[in-house]
Amino acid sequence: MGDNKTCKYHPEEPSSWNCSHCDIAYCRTCIPGSVDNYRGKPKCPMCNYGLEFLGASNTAEPFWSVPHRFFAYPFQKDTLMVIGLMTLAGWFMTAGLLTLFLSLFLIVGFIRYGLKVVQYYGAGDSIAPPLGDLGAQSGEYIFLKQVGIFVAFGFMVYLAGQVHPAFAAVVAFLLNLMMPASIMTLAQTNELGKAINPLYLTVIILKIGASYLALLLGVFTVSSGPGLILSLVGESLPVGIVLPLLFLMFSYFSLVTYAMMGYVIYEKQAVLGFSVVMDDDEFYLDDDEFERQQLLATSNIYFHEGRYEEARKLLLEGSDKYRNDMEYNDRLHKLFMILDDRKSLVNHTNFYCESLVKQGFAGKAVTVYLDAQSKEKKFQLDTALASLEVAKLLFQQTKYMQCIILLNGFHKRFPKSKSIAEAYTICARAFSEGLNDDAKAAQLTAFVKKLRAQEATKKQSAAATSSPSASPSEGGDVPRDGEVAPEDDGIDERDKPIEFKL
Ligand SMILES: [Zn+2]
Ligand SMILES: [Zn+2]
Repeated sequence: MGDNKTCKYHPEEPSSWNCSHCDIAYCRTCIPGSVDNYRGKPKCPMCNYGLEFLGASNTAEPFWSVPHRFFAYPFQKDTLMVIGLMTLAGWFMTAGLLTLFLSLFLIVGFIRYGLKVVQYYGAGDSIAPPLGDLGAQSGEYIFLKQVGIFVAFGFMVYLAGQVHPAFAAVVAFLLNLMMPASIMTLAQTNELGKAINPLYLTVIILKIGASYLALLLGVFTVSSGPGLILSLVGESLPVGIVLPLLFLMFSYFSLVTYAMMGYVIYEKQAVLGFSVVMDDDEFYLDDDEFERQQLLATSNIYFHEGRYEEARKLLLEGSDKYRNDMEYNDRLHKLFMILDDRKSLVNHTNFYCESLVKQGFAGKAVTVYLDAQSKEKKFQLDTALASLEVAKLLFQQTKYMQCIILLNGFHKRFPKSKSIAEAYTICARAFSEGLNDDAKAAQLTAFVKKLRAQEATKKQSAAATSSPSASPSEGGDVPRDGEVAPEDDGIDERDKPIEFKL
């Protein structure tokens, strides 16, 4: 199974889903959302077979790299209460026969709580289980099963002892090694038969692999903690203090151990064969966002696989819904570039660049425009706004030639634009500063001057018209309604210098 496999389409991402039919692993970007977003299981975008969930086995950090989490685990409200109760149980033990019964009751509760910790952490939940949860679980006799494990293991050692005392020692040692696997199995399956079956446990241990060695090391280190501390301070203290202290230590270190076992289950859930917990609620997306991410993800996969026509078909289905979505348009742009579909590229670039400029992403519009221009040498944007904003940045980026191409014939294409003078001023500077063509720059500057003069006259005449004493008309040279007449002599003359050869 996909152990440590990364996503085929995002090699830096760990995979969460696997298609055994195509042998492709997918990450969460490729298969967006949570399990709840899919009716049943998600399907492989390539072959439409159901995908297998890899659980956290590829995304969880290895057990031994996060020890601090386990030592911090008991410092939560419910776990601190549990530790408090256990300390109390230690004190009860010293206080007489009646309270001894009470402390046994608390120990039973503690073991059940510990198994809960394994279950919770096994499902990826690092929040301690609430104490109130213990009542709800009473029907499962899980404590008795835990006792059953101890009894069964003890009996196996006894049987081995009937053969030879040394054999009993070996069996005891081996069963000790299996104890964490047994507790984990009990917590996950609630089946005593599996939890005491050495063959089943061996398989579990082999599946966990190196992490199990780390777990054993952790368990033995941690469980020797109380004894060690006791041996340091124990003899100097009265039993009324030592016993509660021992219980406090024992419960803290046990909780650390339970958390470790739970985490190993979480880390290895896909290979363990325990029912895989799909605790991926955090990835749940609302319907719209899910639909959007799925469209982007699947088209990206088609794209990588060279299934361009399918990618195009899929993307165009969203053309109304996502017309101003940058990621969507970017995907479409790349597709038309790769397909070398000039007509679609030009149409889309026109739309996309204007949308980008309006959203304040003129820089991005420049990139998109230059892309399209690399395919269509004389490509010009079809709105005055986008042309001007992109041209300004092209000038700043010293892409003078591209800037001039974009602004060529601006006044003819956008006769009603109020930015003609501005556009040609940029153009003149591009000729002069960029291409050292001062002659053309001068012609353009002259045109701009003339245009500004016309505008000024027009303003005067407009003011005159609105004032009752002024004469209504100045003659043919004044453009009406803010239009620069394309047939104007000055314009034709100026038109030539910017129709240059590429
Ligand atoms: Zn991916
Ligand atoms: Zn597949």
